[in-house]
Amino acid sequence: MIAAETAATRDFLGLRGQVAIVTGASSGIGHACALALGEAGAHVAINCLQSSQDVAASIAAEIDATGGSAMVVAADVSDEADVERMFASVVERYGTMHILINNAGIQSGAPFRDMTLSQWRKVMDVNLDGQFLCARSAVREFRRRGLQPEISAALGKIICMSSVHQRIPWAFETNYAASKGGISLLMKSLAQEVAGDRIRVNAVAPGAIRTPINREAWETPEAEKKLLDLIPYGRIGEPADIANAVLFLASDFSDYMTGSTMFVDGGMTLYPGFRGEG
Ligand code: NAD
Repeated sequence: MIAAETAATRDFLGLRGQVAIVTGASSGIGHACALALGEAGAHVAINCLQSSQDVAASIAAEIDATGGSAMVVAADVSDEADVERMFASVVERYGTMHILINNAGIQSGAPFRDMTLSQWRKVMDVNLDGQFLCARSAVREFRRRGLQPEISAALGKIICMSSVHQRIPWAFETNYAASKGGISLLMKSLAQEVAGDRIRVNAVAPGAIRTPINREAWETPEAEKKLLDLIPYGRIGEPADIANAVLFLASDFSDYMTGSTMFVDGGMTLYPGFRGEG
């Protein structure tokens, strides 16, 4: 539930009236980002797969109920025509868009020798092609609209959901790790290319966050204990931990940041195995 006082305290972010598209927003991290952006006064387009439209509609209703504004846009981010239709419908409803949270992603691991090409491609299609297609549509829309200095110092902001696995190799999840490694250089190369247009492109690299994608890693006490060994800060992350970083990167408080990755991981990338005496 969005508390009215939270909404008021988030006004300082300056996101009120900006339009954000959040992909994969019917669960987990995307859901938390959509609620947080709604609390901050942004108009939120909640992207989901066709099969999740009912859940997405309830998230939109929650944002609407607190005086915010949200719409549901079903689209498969790996489908070019779907992505173009999604951006067209958001622009038709709100006039433009200012923030893209490139969040939709999947895992489909297997021992490398057994991994099928279709399993490899499916993860690349959603995690990498999906971010390419959505970022391309966003850049086109930012340039069409032009700068609105009263809205934001930037022409537009793109936030790519990466993972600690853009840095940490991950056996049995080679397709996922390769896709997140790809996002790292997609993000930086695009940031370099469009910085002169005042478009900022950054990434968030979550560690272990309690969402459906990694349920088996935290749902039993034994699994949770094993996972906590990898997290110096001593707790599993919550979707709101990631949404907080996203709000910062979407706001003008990060106006001098582009091409950066924020690791939000409780220290997972700090080589926790060396905590003792190495
Ligand atoms: P999640 O499974 O709850 O969310 C993923 C969302 O993407 C789902 O709502 C799903 O329906 C949607 N989706 C899948 N394929 C899609 C498609 N083709 N088009 C549109 N939407 C699609 O998991 P999550 O943890 O919230 O994951 C969100 C992002 O965060 C992913 O990119 C994931 O790789 C990344 N991430 C998560 C963790 C973690 O520990 N949970 C860690 C690092 C990175």
